[in-house]
Amino acid sequence: MTIPTETRAPSGALTLESRAGDGPLAAAREQLAGAAAFLGLDDGLHTMLAYPRRELTVSIPLRRDDGSTACYIGHRVQHNLSRGPGKGGVRFSPAVDLDEVRALAMWMTWKCALVDLPYGGAKGGVTIDPRQHSPMEMERVTRRYTSELADFIGPERDIPAPDIGTNEQTMAWMMDTVSVGRGYTVPGAVTGKPLLIGGSLGRSDATSLGVAQVAIAALTTLGRDGLAASAAIQGYGKVGRGAARFLRDAGVRVIAVSDQYAGVFDETGLDLDALDEHVTRTGTVVGFGGAGAIDNADLLTLDVDLLLPCAVESVITHDNAHLVQARAVVEGANGPTTPVADKILAERGILVVPDILANAGGVIVSYFEWVQANQAYWWTESDVHARLRERMTIAWDLVNDEASRTTRTLRDAATTLAVRRVAEAHRVRGLYP
Ligand code: GLU
Repeated sequence: MTIPTETRAPSGALTLESRAGDGPLAAAREQLAGAAAFLGLDDGLHTMLAYPRRELTVSIPLRRDDGSTACYIGHRVQHNLSRGPGKGGVRFSPAVDLDEVRALAMWMTWKCALVDLPYGGAKGGVTIDPRQHSPMEMERVTRRYTSELADFIGPERDIPAPDIGTNEQTMAWMMDTVSVGRGYTVPGAVTGKPLLIGGSLGRSDATSLGVAQVAIAALTTLGRDGLAASAAIQGYGKVGRGAARFLRDAGVRVIAVSDQYAGVFDETGLDLDALDEHVTRTGTVVGFGGAGAIDNADLLTLDVDLLLPCAVESVITHDNAHLVQARAVVEGANGPTTPVADKILAERGILVVPDILANAGGVIVSYFEWVQANQAYWWTESDVHARLRERMTIAWDLVNDEASRTTRTLRDAATTLAVRRVAEAHRVRGLYP
């Protein structure tokens, strides 16, 4: 289905015409609309928040290793800058399109505001499949993309970080490209860098640690003991793999995990050490001898205490939400549950810990990395972890208190808290001119 992403009044002004749709941008705008109605935001401010502040689309010509040239499209969207510079990851995936980047940028605004980081929200992406390119080609793509964004990003403007398809090496190339352009090293230009060049201890597993922390908190809310609980994890990448280990270490039985190909299942709890060896060797969980096979659709409907979607958007939808049997869904991914599915899960009494709370650990430690890089003073890992836990606990308590006070879901409470902070920042700064 094609969803128009802008609607206009006869004067040319953007409007807030409500429209159905099931893409991530429609979902993000529907969540915003709920918060705007609850907060009584006027249409003008609501419209401002429904559209990005700035977007840049660039073409990225790549000289391939064989001497030919191919061309890709990249975007960087700054959704809102009222609370500080833009912040958010860069995604390299064949599924990237501008509307997805817009939605992900909006979610970054709410995530940063919810955990009270002095940032706005941004996101970037290139429509490319990194698996079909050599590391040298990916370096050239990354550097060309970064140089096209040179005037748009930087420590006080917009600070990229890793997301799907990007990693520490990508961030090192981005940081180097910005630095070469400016003629001096700018370690605060990106986060998620290697430790060697100004990365932070604790950044690489920060998202997973935060996801596991709120998953355990969710079990406590449900009156379940971590030691007797079970979990299924969709997405065994940067977020899901670490979350599985932290949950296992807390005593949770991780009975199923999957990647983009398929999944593996063991009712007694997967042997994660043996599984990790298999994944490192083969690049997939598929074929792991120590467990049975399960497909991605069945994993989402397992009878478990915790279901952690840690892959991509829109995996729990109106088609499968009524089949979910988990007691709690903890969103390691951004936007894995569509608004229709959200309602179905709420009606069925399934607790959903929303993405902007559940996976905020990554951007929290990105913030710590940026602070350390700007001050050129490095913290210990235990300091990073303690500060991360403290911020996650504050956000968890805040969202839970708001949800019980207003008898709404955790997502509604979290989105409202975040939108209120952004709206207040905008109001106190005033509209220029
Ligand atoms: N890509 C991560 C996210 O979606 C991290 C963003 C960041 O650290 O800036 O939250």
